[in-house]
Amino acid sequence: MIPSAFAYERAASVKEALELWRASGGSAKWLAGGHSLLPLMKLRLSAPPKLIDISGIDELRGVARVGDRVVIGALTTHRELATHPLIRETLPALSDAARQVGDLQVRNRGTIGGNLAHADTASDLPAVAVSLGAELLVATPDGDVVLPAQEFFLGPLVTAMPENGLLKAVSFPVPPGNARGVYEKFPHPASGYAVVGVAVTAGVDAQGVVDFVRVGVTGAADAAYRAQAVEEALLGREPTPDALRAAAAKAADDGAIAGDAFASEAYRRHLCTVVAERALRRALG
Ligand SMILES: Cc1cc2nc3c(=O)[nH]c(=O)nc-3n(C[C@H](O)[C@H](O)[C@H](O)COP(=O)(O)OP(=O)(O)OC[C@H]3O[C@@H](n4cnc5c(N)ncnc54)[C@H](O)[C@@H]3O)c2cc1C
Repeated sequence: MIPSAFAYERAASVKEALELWRASGGSAKWLAGGHSLLPLMKLRLSAPPKLIDISGIDELRGVARVGDRVVIGALTTHRELATHPLIRETLPALSDAARQVGDLQVRNRGTIGGNLAHADTASDLPAVAVSLGAELLVATPDGDVVLPAQEFFLGPLVTAMPENGLLKAVSFPVPPGNARGVYEKFPHPASGYAVVGVAVTAGVDAQGVVDFVRVGVTGAADAAYRAQAVEEALLGREPTPDALRAAAAKAADDGAIAGDAFASEAYRRHLCTVVAERALRRALG
């Protein structure tokens, strides 16, 4: 449980961070909250020769409404996501998911940027990001790029992030005012990570018919995915208990569901439907 030796540098700005990364010859890793990277290093599953600490970069902080979007700095901690009034009001599914991450210590140190960039298949926040069509704003030495969350998660710990990219912020479109947002997970009993987690943001119109629904699933497949089959089953319908159950039954349809030593593929498929129904009931019931 002791990492291999590494050098450590601290960046004060995005520009300096990118320069330090270039000077490392491309071998350095960013250090944000350290709650995913350091465990990997202690297990010697990762052995970067240099860490560039980005946790002091003010440009990576802050939560702001910009037009019809909410832009969240990469260093925003899980605790801030769970408690920030603007996020609670406009992106309740994100607050709900962050509230369920790990324990108090993890929520105080872990960041949205680290959580998404790390791309653990069992992480909670990717479900919200893909469901709501978030965009990741990434700084590179050649300029900023914008990556849609739905194209970002490629597999376990693999993303579309450019090798030299530094995630600056995550931008979420604000859902309509009538939409409620929730996150439900079946947690692994030992780690608390999601065996299956489902994010739902949904609302009904004045006639009681579903006019907005976004669903994201994490934990079940190699990468978080948007459950469009569930959305299509509900849009334009009354959210009766039968309709919610029938829609939830499609929660595994859009992902390449995977099994492992803890949960078989069949069990995860089953959990998708159970957890999705719970989430839909909370959002629309
Ligand atoms: C005991 C424990 C329980 C946990 N339980 C859960 C849980 O239930 N649900 C859950 O979702 N997570 C859980 N986590 C993980 C936690 O959410 C982490 O905090 C998070 O995944 C990583 O964020 P971080 O800021 O700590 O990133 P770090 O560990 O600092 O970095 C993680 C990776 O992301 C890269 N990175 C970090 N920031 C950036 C950036 N701005 N741009 C580009 N790359 C970047 C790093 O280089 C590294 O590769 C748990 C962790 C622990 C230790």
